[in-house]
Amino acid sequence: MENKDIWQSVLAQIQFHISKANFATWFQNTEVISKKDGIVVVSVPNAFSKEWLSNKYNKLILKGLHGIDDKIKEVEYIIRPQSSKSPNLKPSLTTEKINIEQLNFEEFKVDKETNLNPRYTFDNFVVGSFNELAHAAALAVSENPGFTYNPLFIYGGVGLGKTHLLQAVGNKIIESLKKKKVKYISSEKFVTGIVTAIRNHSIDAFKTSLSLIDVLIIDDVQFLAGKNKTQEEFFHAFNALYEKNKQIILSSDRPPNAIPELEERLRSRFEGGMIADISLPDYETRLVILKTKLQEKHSELPEEILDYITNNVKKNIRELEGALNRLLIYYKINNTPPTLEVAKKLLKSYIFSPFDIANYKKIIEVVAKFYNLEEKDLFEATRRKEIVGPRQVAMFLLRKELKYSFPAIARKFGGKDHTTAIYACRKVSQKFEENDKLTEEINLIKQRIYSG
Ligand code: ADP
Ligand code: MG
Repeated sequence: MENKDIWQSVLAQIQFHISKANFATWFQNTEVISKKDGIVVVSVPNAFSKEWLSNKYNKLILKGLHGIDDKIKEVEYIIRPQSSKSPNLKPSLTTEKINIEQLNFEEFKVDKETNLNPRYTFDNFVVGSFNELAHAAALAVSENPGFTYNPLFIYGGVGLGKTHLLQAVGNKIIESLKKKKVKYISSEKFVTGIVTAIRNHSIDAFKTSLSLIDVLIIDDVQFLAGKNKTQEEFFHAFNALYEKNKQIILSSDRPPNAIPELEERLRSRFEGGMIADISLPDYETRLVILKTKLQEKHSELPEEILDYITNNVKKNIRELEGALNRLLIYYKINNTPPTLEVAKKLLKSYIFSPFDIANYKKIIEVVAKFYNLEEKDLFEATRRKEIVGPRQVAMFLLRKELKYSFPAIARKFGGKDHTTAIYACRKVSQKFEENDKLTEEINLIKQRIYSG
């Protein structure tokens, strides 16, 4: 048998054992170049193929070869970059327009009735200690909506899976309890809906449509801050649903007691059920998430690249996914996985750089935004409680994170006596020790400062 035929026959067998995507990825452009003394030499196009074939598929390959000729005992892989005349190998370095959808991803359509995206499920939601509680609560709610935890309030930073989890509950409910009417609404849409309804004198119809819902999911309720009319309508809708044991599920970037300008009565409703947070995933979990995403996309990348992403992209899960997609697009265009060097270049914008650290401007910006203030409000000469608290937090962070001296802090805040700065920092430190709410707020603020 000729080398070419031997290899064809081995490949034909292997094809049955591995996924199409893997087969195409790892066996394309391989061939047997010699067979002597029980050793078969297979040429592969690059170091990654070599690594992959020898580590993952060696047994399968050997088994195939052995079936053809039982004198074959060993396979060797050598790298032989294909000559440019082999047509499907030539890397195209052009920035071809390839978008995420072309990456073998399944297409998902948002359901018009529920606004749910079927791509968000419990099955593809990775659970670790960082989101364990939120996941367990969400699962419990999906099994018995209206009667387990009501409302369910999930909070955590950007890109950590709140929307995914909320929608997974919705999707699970429509799948298992077909008669339940589920509605997912972002807070922005909710606000617009109410404002429009008021303007068109159709608020009663709007309320009726809400009252027919069995499971109401409202994402990012921190956007209701300061929207008084919406809050009022929402309060009534909330009560109407709650009294009928209809499930309400909410998310926010912070716990209810840290949402500024939220009516007290609404806050106490939000706090009346289960509150669960999602924090940051650790190294192991980030790696599992990457691998899960790769599997979903029927793709593979060498371990050293996965290790590099996991070690360097820590901000949140959305960034992790973004980094992965960036590499997969490269892979797709060039028909070969990126080398570590290439990956480093491609991921530059995802990697936390030392220039990304806190600075004065960022602290002021984040603190003001967090408390729903304008930056200049922090510097206003006033003793109003809504200003003094946030100002003290800003001073505290300048001291703690940037090691500003007290006189420097005082200068920044309009030449105040530096004892004011000392007092502010001491006060916040003290409260920080004993006041959970403030501790939580400062942690959330710090998370934002450092996540850019
Ligand atoms: P948030 O709403 O908190 O900003 P998202 O729910 O939009 O975050 O999540 C951002 C991306 O990360 C989404 O693509 C989502 O599918 C993915 N993701 C988040 N958490 C997980 C998880 N635990 N397992 C798998 N994918 C996740
Ligand atoms: Mg979201």
